[in-house]
Amino acid sequence: MVNADTAEIGVIGGSGFYSFLDDVTEVKVDTPYGEPSDSLFLGELAGRRVAFLPRHGRGHHLPPHRINYRANLWALRSVGVRQVLGPCAVGGLRPEYGPGTLLVPDQMVDRTKARAQTFYDGEPWADGTLPNVVHLGFADPYCPGGRKAALAAARGRDWEPVDGGTLVVVEGPRFSTRAESRWHAAMGWSVVGMTGHPEAVLARELNLCYTTLTLVTDLDAGAEAGEGVSHAEVLEVFAANVDRLRSVLFDAVAALPANEDRDCVCAHALDGLDTGITLP
Ligand SMILES: [Zn+2]
Repeated sequence: MVNADTAEIGVIGGSGFYSFLDDVTEVKVDTPYGEPSDSLFLGELAGRRVAFLPRHGRGHHLPPHRINYRANLWALRSVGVRQVLGPCAVGGLRPEYGPGTLLVPDQMVDRTKARAQTFYDGEPWADGTLPNVVHLGFADPYCPGGRKAALAAARGRDWEPVDGGTLVVVEGPRFSTRAESRWHAAMGWSVVGMTGHPEAVLARELNLCYTTLTLVTDLDAGAEAGEGVSHAEVLEVFAANVDRLRSVLFDAVAALPANEDRDCVCAHALDGLDTGITLP
């Protein structure tokens, strides 16, 4: 029997991804790390139980630096989620990665400044639980199985994706200066966004598989000669691509392995480590 309050796969993204699904159950979850961005919206898709979480909250009221990433990942895990897809809008750092490009990164660079990026910080919880300090391997930040499913799903929808590349995550909420943008490009990085970190590392810290699909909505300031990025332009390109991105996401959900069949680095991230926490 399927429990309406559980899910196996999580999707962190806007309401455009679940609002039209039938029989969506809204579940409010509290966590030791505070409240997530919003309720979880649980539904069924291609025979899989999926939990959708609006990253910025309903109505998009949370800027990237104020999202409670720890609560979001903890909430997903506590309803049963073990694999997460985290689509996000990004700026392209190379002229060939123009608006409408779908890039599935295999590397990430953290340039955020003030975000809680570990569960295991040695800070006691209100109930006295004391998480140990833990150092996790993170050489390859994304799930290889999830990336494969995402790439195959895009190709199946005739949307040739860029396979691999580096997502640099900045603090925001402002966009990059031209100098920052040129520097990011000169380092060989591919796309720039504001939400991919610490989402990826927090997923890894909870033994969750995490895959990001980045949709290029604009060329970043250093990659074009004009005025740089505007928010209106980003929203416009996102709206124009949300339908096909949703199709790709749903096909990727369908292609993910069963949770009990996972045998990737993500599923074993905590092997042999004493975290001091019992995961939900
Ligand atoms: Zn994995």
